[in-house]
Amino acid sequence: MKIICIGMNYAEHVRELPSVWDGKEQAIPQEPVFFIKPDTALLRNNDPFYIPDFSEDVQYECELVVRINRLCKGIEERFAHRCYEEVGLGIDFTARDLQRECKAKGRPWEIAKGFDHSAAVAPAFIPKTELPDVQNLRFSMDLNGERKQTGYTGDMIFSIDRIIAYVSRFVTLRIGDLLFTGTPVGVGQVHIGDRITAELEGRTMLDFDIK
Ligand code: MG
Repeated sequence: MKIICIGMNYAEHVRELPSVWDGKEQAIPQEPVFFIKPDTALLRNNDPFYIPDFSEDVQYECELVVRINRLCKGIEERFAHRCYEEVGLGIDFTARDLQRECKAKGRPWEIAKGFDHSAAVAPAFIPKTELPDVQNLRFSMDLNGERKQTGYTGDMIFSIDRIIAYVSRFVTLRIGDLLFTGTPVGVGQVHIGDRITAELEGRTMLDFDIK
């Protein structure tokens, strides 16, 4: 399986990017921006996240995660809703210092985004049928009990169906692939001893420690 991640999918987050990157304003993308993490990036079952020794600035990005449930190649947007039945939450851990370096040198982001255990995924997903419309979901992430991010999927620049249509033109999606749909505003650094909790529509989805 693979993990497809969307960047810059919430306008407020795009506006905060100069503060975490290089100070330069970022334009709202005209098409979805995506990158892929390998399966070795998965962190499951609320296992602790160990800060890797190669970064001084690992940051959390809490995101709605969609689990693909069929083979999707060149899917039209109007059929994309058939490609997933469950959604959950995840954390797209990012070595921000390495990402800044990669950006400055015009290099790919893999060392900053695709490292081991950089994709924490909720132990249980929720069937779409138990939730309001997927573009009408609220989620949040707390660090040590303090609210850091609140997301509303209606604020996505590109809807889940639009993303699936776009990505599946280039990359075939398979059963079990995970789609991280972008982070809302409020990204920040994690430290040893922190605890991350996250809720989707009032249900606790993530609860794990940073070590
Ligand atoms: Mg992200």
